[in-house]
Amino acid sequence: MRTITLINGDGIGPEISQSVQDIIKASGLEIDWDIQTAGADVIETEGTPLPQRVLDSIKKNKVALKAPVTTPIGKGFRSVNVQLRKSLDLYANLRPCKNLPGVETRFKDVDIIVVRENTEDLYAGIEEKIDDNTAHSIKIITRSASERICKFAFDYAVKNNRHEVCAVTKANIMKLSDGLFLESYRKVAQNYPQIKPREILVDNLCMQLVQDPARFDVLVLPNLYGDIVSDLTAGLIGGLGVAQGANIGLDCAVFEPVHGSAPDIKGQNKANPTALLLSAIEMLRYINENSYAEKIEKALFKTLSNGDKTADIGGKLSTTEFTRKIIENL
Ligand code: ATP
Repeated sequence: MRTITLINGDGIGPEISQSVQDIIKASGLEIDWDIQTAGADVIETEGTPLPQRVLDSIKKNKVALKAPVTTPIGKGFRSVNVQLRKSLDLYANLRPCKNLPGVETRFKDVDIIVVRENTEDLYAGIEEKIDDNTAHSIKIITRSASERICKFAFDYAVKNNRHEVCAVTKANIMKLSDGLFLESYRKVAQNYPQIKPREILVDNLCMQLVQDPARFDVLVLPNLYGDIVSDLTAGLIGGLGVAQGANIGLDCAVFEPVHGSAPDIKGQNKANPTALLLSAIEMLRYINENSYAEKIEKALFKTLSNGDKTADIGGKLSTTEFTRKIIENL
């Protein structure tokens, strides 16, 4: 039986995590979940929101499924999500955005892969208060990390029969930092003559995405633009409740939804588990459990197509009712 690290998270995390565990179990696939707690709940007892045991568990098991963990705004500890990605060098954040059956949206032909650099940029967290009037935040872009993420995007494109990889920057203003990202992209692109190269400024991308998302295929972006643009693309396919993600490194991978812990709906049995379930389905493909991945995906799509949905995507079902419907459809 395969052992996989499971971080239940906080906010709506435990509710959607339970749903996904129940669905996987009902599919017949047995997984030995190595459950690891992290976040605000463990700070008091362990002095850190991301204890070493969590990292050790992921290093040992190589694969983790992670429900959201709250990042407090303003003060306190560094984000568990950011720390986890950095500590395990999960350098590629992969966020596929494709229309789902039964989920009505403004656009019918969205099929975009967002590849977000995961280890540097303004997320490096190097900030300094200069005086009462001024704070500085340093944007780090390196050639090595930029080339690595661009190579990941092109390799993904080749492997998944995609046609174009578009670099997204603001290199006209941040000439050195985003300029270096773009220079790295151009160098890597030369090795992939079968994939069409393209460059766009992030502001123009946002405008075009909300006009006609079908114009885009694979996007590769530095960390912060990737964070923002992937929430935008999530909005194109029905919102955060359905947007999946994965953090991939050379040694391990952590699968997690794009959304945060949604404290506004915590404990109300309202959360949509689809984003975490889709992330788990990709995780099953990653560990070569393809038949279970297909089976669960089919049951999910059938459920959504029948109109059985949670409220965030226009349905009436609670988290547990929606989970039950998927299990019935398995
Ligand atoms: P973070 O900064 O941690 O990513 P965030 O500020 O992006 O968090 P989220 O926690 O992702 O915020 O929530 C944004 C909004 O989307 C909230 O109103 C929340 O209720 C809603 N939302 C997020 N995830 C879900 C979900 N799985 N089901 C239903 N609604 C959700």
